[in-house]
Amino acid sequence: GVAYMDGQYLPMSEAKISVLDWGFLHSDATYDTVHVWEGRFFRLDLHLDRFWGGMQRLRMKIPYSREQVTDILHNCVALSGHKSAYVEMICTRGGSPTFSRDPRQSENRFIAFAVPFGSVANKEQLERGLHVSVSEIVRISPKSVDPEVKNYHWLDLVKGLFDAYDAGGETALVLDENGNIAEGPGFNVFVVKDGGLRTPAFGVLPGITRRSVFDLAAEINLKAVAEDVSRSDLSGADEVFITSTAGGIMPVTKVDGTPISDGSVGPVTRRLMDHYWKKHSDPAWS
Ligand code: PLP
Repeated sequence: GVAYMDGQYLPMSEAKISVLDWGFLHSDATYDTVHVWEGRFFRLDLHLDRFWGGMQRLRMKIPYSREQVTDILHNCVALSGHKSAYVEMICTRGGSPTFSRDPRQSENRFIAFAVPFGSVANKEQLERGLHVSVSEIVRISPKSVDPEVKNYHWLDLVKGLFDAYDAGGETALVLDENGNIAEGPGFNVFVVKDGGLRTPAFGVLPGITRRSVFDLAAEINLKAVAEDVSRSDLSGADEVFITSTAGGIMPVTKVDGTPISDGSVGPVTRRLMDHYWKKHSDPAWS
């Protein structure tokens, strides 16, 4: 992979930040990740919108325009030589040379990199569906951390992952403050019931892939809503799938050890997966 920092393109192994950077010390950072498929960026504008929105909410500024960041991301991919890449843009608070505790004293830091694309789910899991466990852990409150800011707060999600592994699952879903399903480590979740789609509305990152599912649903006349999903909505769903940049639309066929419906990948999920991958060669979605 190739990284960009401080005006230079570097091999990933040479891209290093200070341990005094508040991004590292305090998770005081925002970031976004984009998928490049066969050399094409997928929905880059939406990722740039979210990244700029996050910086604004955190009162961070970088000395680059959207066009300059776009060029940097393209350069990282070109220099890396990867046709399919996972591209990340990051803004951290930065560090203070005087150890000041006043965040206004820091110079915010922009970093970007492109590494080979690696999916959340492997080929076998995509074919048979993922096995997910619901952890009792509660995702950080949207009253504490604005979920619209894509952030590195993952202590709850990683705890959820270990809970899921202990319970025999492959990945995790965690709860919102009301005990409903929230999201997982790097993905949103959808349930399909009677042909309609539902995804949690509260306390979750508004994922770009989640948004793509709404766009696809509108195109193929499926009803889709953002509303609470209870644990029983999940276990009683006709189909379940998860969505993320690092994997697209991924079927879930078991929750807490119990099959969803007949335990095979359902027709609505298959249809959406198929449309989603077709959109990767549609210039309107680049
Ligand atoms: N939820 C969380 C906590 C995430 O970190 C991510 C992506 O990293 C997602 C959901 C999925 O968002 P997207 O579809 O934009 O990748």
